[in-house]
Amino acid sequence: MSIIKHFINGQLFEGSSKRTGKIFNPATGEETSKVNLASKDDIDLAVEKAKKAFHEWSNKPPVIRARVLFKFKELIEKNSDELTKLIVLEHGKVYDDAKGSLTRGLEVVEFACGIPQLLKGEFTENVGTEVDSWSTRQPLGVCAGITPFNFPAMVPMWMFPIAIACGNTFVLKPSEKDPSCSIKLAQLFKEAGLPDGVFNVVNGDKEAVDALLTNKDVAAISFVGSTPIAKYIYENAAKNEKRVQALGGAKNHCVIMPDCDLDQAVNGLMGAAYGSAGERCMAQSVAVAVGNIGDQLVSKLSQKVEKLKVGPGSDKSSEMGPLVTKEHLEKVKAYVDLGVEEGAKLVVDGRNIKLQGFEKGFYLGGCLFDQVKSNMRIYKEEIFGPVLSVVRVKDFKSAVNLVNNHEFGNGTSIYTRDGDVGRSYANQIKVGMVGINIPIPVPMAFHSFGGWKRSLFGDQHMHGTEGVRFYTKLKTITSRWPSGLRTDPEFIMPTMK
Ligand code: NAD
Repeated sequence: MSIIKHFINGQLFEGSSKRTGKIFNPATGEETSKVNLASKDDIDLAVEKAKKAFHEWSNKPPVIRARVLFKFKELIEKNSDELTKLIVLEHGKVYDDAKGSLTRGLEVVEFACGIPQLLKGEFTENVGTEVDSWSTRQPLGVCAGITPFNFPAMVPMWMFPIAIACGNTFVLKPSEKDPSCSIKLAQLFKEAGLPDGVFNVVNGDKEAVDALLTNKDVAAISFVGSTPIAKYIYENAAKNEKRVQALGGAKNHCVIMPDCDLDQAVNGLMGAAYGSAGERCMAQSVAVAVGNIGDQLVSKLSQKVEKLKVGPGSDKSSEMGPLVTKEHLEKVKAYVDLGVEEGAKLVVDGRNIKLQGFEKGFYLGGCLFDQVKSNMRIYKEEIFGPVLSVVRVKDFKSAVNLVNNHEFGNGTSIYTRDGDVGRSYANQIKVGMVGINIPIPVPMAFHSFGGWKRSLFGDQHMHGTEGVRFYTKLKTITSRWPSGLRTDPEFIMPTMK
């Protein structure tokens, strides 16, 4: 059985720990490989190598760093089929969806290629008499990224291309459930000309994460994952004096207004709720049916959910693949059982799906609940599976209140033909990313990604200009080149006369 190693200082590295994790192919349920789980010593070694590489890399002109990124972009494109297959093999999502997620990561690399422009500071000539002032942004040092299982390429790529373009060095700790894509990306970055030690990948679990949180040479931590762990990362990174952005879980609402184009809304919801088997932080897991639209919405949705083509991600005709692990499948199924106990109406039940030839795969058919109430746990908690809940409300105001009272605020959408309603929704809603007749409003690489409330701890979103700000420190320089000697000491606050 193959062993997935770490990638430290430009080399594959076994590590000092004897602990390993199991990697499964979710489509067949087979164990395909093992991954080495890093010890504190392994993390400390990666950080040491990253620290050593920082001086030379950060002193390279931005245009030289950008050239390495341009080459990296080319190599990702050339190897996109292999990278996509790694995502399908370890995560389980369907091929075209996996390819799309890789492309969204690639777009961050493209954005980072513009780093010479992005790092241009501001200059004021004659800020005082014969005094000039300018500001510049400098890299932080060693940055670390800790990422979830659901986007094995895209989420790490929200982080490291920008951090490295800014002149930092990076240690990535990807999800231990699907780490191969990150290792391949590190190898391609080296092939693109990235010096050894600038980008390191260390596999592991809590032990590795805790070692990153306590290593004094780690300057900043970017985290994406569930809310309890995001909070833990936020608190402990701050306690250890690190800059931190920690993105957490979600429960995204899609508001369906009675005037909307219902077929368009239903198609949007199908992709947003069941795409990637609902394992997306931007999945729409709650449909809010406003006014009298509920019956029609549930009827149209149920017909489509029943016909959802579930199958292995490698089969191009599959619309939805398996869940990532057996444990996760059991957890999601338990939520469906709970919904029934709580009194919601299970309109489509995907629990008993059997796929010929793939009996051991981690499949769940699409599930649809109607009559879900805001006090039910299936409404309040993130399920992270192919389960869509319909909540009925009487009017627009109740829909806004429902969404704003939820603890999460990652993404949301509204379907309406009324521009005034759409605009009011975008204005009033306490959520970080909003779609109007757009089912999954994931911002492009040159905008920034992030939620509100308990979906993000910290104050900067990922990628775009927020990413550049997160991975750099601001310095402001004020200078004077006096033509004559000025010897008098000044004891008062200098002001303009
Ligand atoms: P997770 O929180 O279990 O794991 C995320 C990372 O934290 C992994 O690298 C894991 O090894 C590490 N980790 C897990 N338990 C830990 C612990 N006790 N101490 C320290 N580190 C620990 O999340 P997941 O199951 O991999 O991913 C799914 C979650 O990620 C969902 O909640 C989803 O909403 C969220 N997510 C959020 C976004 C976003 O942008 N807000 C994007 C993608 C996924």
